[in-house]
Amino acid sequence: MTAPEPTGASVRLRPEIAALPAYRQGRPAPADGFKLSSNENPFDPLPSVAAAVSDAASHLNRYPDASALALRERLAARHDVSVDEVLVGAGSVSLLAQLIAAAAGPGDEVVYSWRSFEAYPGLVTVAGATSVTVPNNADHGHDLDAMAAAVTDRTRVVIVCSPNNPTGTIVTAVEFEAFMSKVPSDRLVLLDEAYIEFVRDEPEAVGRAVDGTALLGRYPNLVVLRTFSKAYGLAGLRVGYAIGAVPILDAARSTAIPLGVTATASAGAIASLEPDAEAELLNRVDVIVERRDRLRAALVEQGWPVPVAQGNFVWLPTGNETTAVAERLFDAGLVTRAFPLDGIRVSVGEEESVDTLLRILGELVPVSQEGRPA
Ligand SMILES: *Cc1c(COP(=O)(O)O)cnc(C)c1O
Repeated sequence: MTAPEPTGASVRLRPEIAALPAYRQGRPAPADGFKLSSNENPFDPLPSVAAAVSDAASHLNRYPDASALALRERLAARHDVSVDEVLVGAGSVSLLAQLIAAAAGPGDEVVYSWRSFEAYPGLVTVAGATSVTVPNNADHGHDLDAMAAAVTDRTRVVIVCSPNNPTGTIVTAVEFEAFMSKVPSDRLVLLDEAYIEFVRDEPEAVGRAVDGTALLGRYPNLVVLRTFSKAYGLAGLRVGYAIGAVPILDAARSTAIPLGVTATASAGAIASLEPDAEAELLNRVDVIVERRDRLRAALVEQGWPVPVAQGNFVWLPTGNETTAVAERLFDAGLVTRAFPLDGIRVSVGEEESVDTLLRILGELVPVSQEGRPA
């Protein structure tokens, strides 16, 4: 008998976990290219934020404050809630994992729209629960009626993503309130608002976008998730927060790996909330929003059926041509996020990337007819 190869292949793992697609980060951008694949903020950190982070780094021999109290105090004051109604995590993806695990386990269902944020399916599986996905509507947004109808006795969590990653659509306040009135009040609703700072309302066309923080008092089963990764440009620091009812957040805290939010992360987030810093960061958001709207208008002009984009990215419904279009963009130095057979998400990045994007996509419109709705 030969000894088994020491590959680890025979170790008994949870089969549903072993079957998950391994995480592969997008390809790095070529030297003179642009990484438009992770919805990162193209601006460098503010000097005041970088200074706060490096000051905090001189205490790296110490553990951080486990509850990130100083940051929670700042967030609680701003959103007019108590400190215990704010939970801080190592990115809002961490908080999603914690909240899902707190509410749903084996035999339980988690409902969300699809296509939406790629992290949702894996987080549900890791919790041991089952995903129930509801197809996006023809406009690439959530079908909230169908989502409410998908709630069964087994449903423990419903996730609403507005603006939706990767399609950029929003849920309006009116739609969301109608949805909440149909979901039983003992089921957790997570409203993922990672991109809310980029929303610009178009009142006549679609109605005002939902803002979960304005609704927390009304719906005790609602938890709102926000992040410093996108508008605040701190993706590398890993810090996000949840606001909601204390018993829910306490349960979510119990599922966390302790001390995930470092002191450097808290310091960077707090420095970003200083009035001068925040004003400058929100000016940058305005710059990205202007660039996004200009990019989308030009793409629509070229013939691309790009949905109204309310995040820091645009969605190209490329269908069967997805891989081919993404390769062409890559060859031109633009790394994007392709979802084969479905579409491509392109982050709104450096101004210098816009011309190349429009030049390549302008050449590809005819090839992409297949991906276009009739
Ligand atoms: C980016 C993103 C998040 C948050 O990411 P973190 O960096 O973990 O805070 C959450 N939800 C969606 C839909 C996102 O796109």
